[in-house]
Amino acid sequence: MSDPQAGDIIVVWFSNGAASAIAWQETLRLYGDRCDVRGVNNPVAEEDHDNLRFARDVSMWLRQPLNYWSNPNYPEASAVSVWDRRGGMVFPHGAPCTVHLKKEARQDYERHHKVAWHVFGFTADEKKRHDRFVLTERSNVLPILIDAGITKQDCITRLEAAGIKPPRLYAEGYPNANCIGCVKATSPTYWNLVRQTRPEVFEERAQQSRRLGVRLVRHSGKRIFLDELPADAKGRSLKTMNIDCGIFCEEKAHA
Ligand code: SF4
Repeated sequence: MSDPQAGDIIVVWFSNGAASAIAWQETLRLYGDRCDVRGVNNPVAEEDHDNLRFARDVSMWLRQPLNYWSNPNYPEASAVSVWDRRGGMVFPHGAPCTVHLKKEARQDYERHHKVAWHVFGFTADEKKRHDRFVLTERSNVLPILIDAGITKQDCITRLEAAGIKPPRLYAEGYPNANCIGCVKATSPTYWNLVRQTRPEVFEERAQQSRRLGVRLVRHSGKRIFLDELPADAKGRSLKTMNIDCGIFCEEKAHA
């Protein structure tokens, strides 16, 4: 793989997470003087409002505008409406919301702009995920954080040093700043956290998944409906969960 050339468009896919914020900063540091480095976000209506505050803070810190790009077939960018339109929330090949709101939005951006390079928030502890993405999705990805040896924790530390508060979802115990009530999650621990912190979202997911016949959660070895989940049920720690819709649109749901 060659190196970025002067004038190349490098898109940093900013997912409102700490890692993609630092990936954006590092890309600007390395290539900002000779390439067209752009931060682009594919919005999803079900993300927390505080993500917008975080995105504004990062954009002001880096003195760069953040661009937004949605799939024109889903202009409302709502996962809830994708699930209704597709008649399901998770399919064997993955979640339709990630495909329509992230992957296809990214592909639509590529149709309108000559993107030479992509940058994602793959950290030094995620080399395997990066390699898999390069193999299955795009070969022109710059492993900015991996090459610099920057871990997830380093990203949070850097943001804190810059006085930027991470999205509040992290402090609430969520493993990432994606949608609240993400349908890729099957863990009782996750869903009971949603029930506890955002009861209205839990209720909405419970009702919609019943209506669509989707058993979102795994408990005692079998898939059950959300409204069947005991409030004290626990699975493994959320720290070990690997849900990230911004990058892994193609992946199956995670335990
Ligand atoms: S975070 Fe989850 S619910 Fe939201 S778009 Fe991605 S897969 Fe769908």
